[in-house]
Amino acid sequence: ASESNLIRVTLFPGDGIGPEIAESVKQVFKAADVPVEWEEHYVGKEVDPRTQSFLTWESLESVRRNKVGLKGPMATPIGKGHRSLNLTLRKELNLYANVRPCYSLPGYKTKHDDVDLITIRENTEGEYSGLEHQVVRGVVESLKIITRHASLRVAEYAFHYANAHGRERVSAIHKANIMQKTDGLFLKCCREVAEKYPEIKYEEVVIDNCCMMLVKNPSLFDVLVMPNLYGDIISDLCAGLIGGLGLTPSCNIGEGGIALAEAVHGSAPDIAGQNKANPTALLLSGVSMLRHLDLHDKADKIQNAVLNTIAEGKYRTGDLGGKSTTTDFTKAICDHL
Ligand code: NAD
Repeated sequence: ASESNLIRVTLFPGDGIGPEIAESVKQVFKAADVPVEWEEHYVGKEVDPRTQSFLTWESLESVRRNKVGLKGPMATPIGKGHRSLNLTLRKELNLYANVRPCYSLPGYKTKHDDVDLITIRENTEGEYSGLEHQVVRGVVESLKIITRHASLRVAEYAFHYANAHGRERVSAIHKANIMQKTDGLFLKCCREVAEKYPEIKYEEVVIDNCCMMLVKNPSLFDVLVMPNLYGDIISDLCAGLIGGLGLTPSCNIGEGGIALAEAVHGSAPDIAGQNKANPTALLLSGVSMLRHLDLHDKADKIQNAVLNTIAEGKYRTGDLGGKSTTTDFTKAICDHL
């Protein structure tokens, strides 16, 4: 691709294993001749007063400008006087939906081999609104906020996603039998949106039953949409179904068309700097990013190369029971391209 045709995307290599797996993504993208130009931003060493966190103002501006980015894991700095990095990103960029595709990797054996799910988590409110206080000594209170605005927004995204990706069904996950007002409003919004998509089947499943069904037979589900806390828990349950943290990608969707893809895992300080990390989760997050950019050919090509390398079983990192280094595994993927 010539310089002028390159799409600019923001890259946060992040901390710990972040730079190692980000390097792997850069190499694989280069080998696949993906027409993107990386604009790299590291987490700062000091609090930036403009963001009240270790994230620099310039890095947020970069995402706002490019609208698309890839984020490595960020270690949570200890100490007071600043906001958490992930919370800053979520609030400043209005990242309202977290999308996690979760599918069985061919050739990597787990209990189920037919997992193919998309969880879509509301990312801005619910129990995670940060409104907790002590009422009197020995009694604390936490407020769960559900708004029509945020519920419609995430439901719209879920149906739009299902429609765009040829998915047949959207399941709203809830506990409205107990949380009648909050989850009740969430469901009402989902129903409203469902009416606009008659070709997509819509159902409502109580969260406890949903957990049982997922563990027993994950193929019962397709796209799942849910409030924040349920999404946090269910999406990890789904990750566990396919083999764990080294494998699971995600993408955060923000207002104004922003998409910030990221691996689900953290900075893995126990293996950082040792060339042991599995770059699959960040690579597949990169694939999500390419799909967002409608670069489906490149996305398919990279996804197949990653999956074929794992399926072949010759090069696997330690978390999948192999002995390969990050660089050997990356080279094997590039050879598959
Ligand atoms: P972690 O995900 O970093 O590590 C948990 C375990 O999984 C470790 O044994 C690690 O070696 C392993 N692991 C994780 N990713 C792997 C990979 N790609 N390949 C191979 N093994 C992998 O969780 P943690 O130790 O609880 O957190 C470490 C730091 O990361 C903390 O500062 C935490 O706040 C931060 N964190 C950041 C994010 C994020 O940026 N989105 C998410 C979770 C945790």
